[in-house]
Amino acid sequence: SKAPSLTLNNGVEMPQLGFGVWQVPDDEAEKAVDTAIQAGYRSIDTAAIYENETGTGKAIAASGVAREELFVTTKLWNSEQGFDSTLRAFDESLSKLGLDYVDLYLIHWPLPSKDAYVDTYKAFEKIYADGRAKAIGVSNFLPEHLERLIGETSVVPAVNQIELHPQLQQAASRAFHAQHGIATEAWSPLGQGKGLLDVPTVVAVARKHGKTPAQAVLRWHLQTGNVVIPKSVTPSRIEENIDVFDFELDADDLAAFAALDEGKRLGPDPATFDAGA
Ligand code: NAD
Repeated sequence: SKAPSLTLNNGVEMPQLGFGVWQVPDDEAEKAVDTAIQAGYRSIDTAAIYENETGTGKAIAASGVAREELFVTTKLWNSEQGFDSTLRAFDESLSKLGLDYVDLYLIHWPLPSKDAYVDTYKAFEKIYADGRAKAIGVSNFLPEHLERLIGETSVVPAVNQIELHPQLQQAASRAFHAQHGIATEAWSPLGQGKGLLDVPTVVAVARKHGKTPAQAVLRWHLQTGNVVIPKSVTPSRIEENIDVFDFELDADDLAAFAALDEGKRLGPDPATFDAGA
């Protein structure tokens, strides 16, 4: 693997940089994931709702890389929250992936209005105890949701995957996670490639290091301590996005990035998002 690993709160090692496959159609996922694995990625982030677990699984099977060297994440979709429905949905995800375990299973959204994430997570604890997920966690949970989950269940989530990029730096969540030993994983780390990569500060820092804006942003994530999962289907960009281990941002660069935070959400607000509930 080209990417270094972080140690999660249960001792499991997770590559700090992985490959995201949101919006990659199932019939293109096999090629994209294959390209990523050949380029040196060892962590893949999918989800039931992405409808590409099958293509992702085919690429994993054909990769020639040993299963234990790969780190596979999938997520439970909103409509399946609840104890029994979670167990069924997990079986379906494993079957589509063609795997007998995943490395990380995440609750995709908290859906506070549905009030089912505690029961859902109890099913996650069973899956974890059975060894069918090496680690369990959540996505899009606000500190208040994590607080309740930690109070009412036994396994502290290993990861919270949240929207995070230089224009939405999520200081409060990151501080809460650090306090509780939860790894922060950044989704839409490149700001979905819209706008962020043209911000003059980002362009200037990149130019200073002879790197691209995407590489400068990924470096910021790594040095901030985030797990990061950039997405691309373009082979040259897939390679570019993992070619970030031969330079470092300095204190001036980091200060310049700190000034870009403007609380700019590209995705839904977890407090109110209830699709599929
Ligand atoms: P991203 O920030 O990774 O941006 C991807 C887009 O940026 C690409 O489609 C492309 O247009 C552009 N891009 C990629 N590499 C580039 C490069 N080197 N140079 C220029 N442009 C480049 O956005 P994302 O896909 O939204 O997020 C990454 C992953 O996070 C997803 O694929 C998914 O796995 C995960 N995710 C999770 C959630 C969640 O709710 N848990 C939500 C969104 C995304």
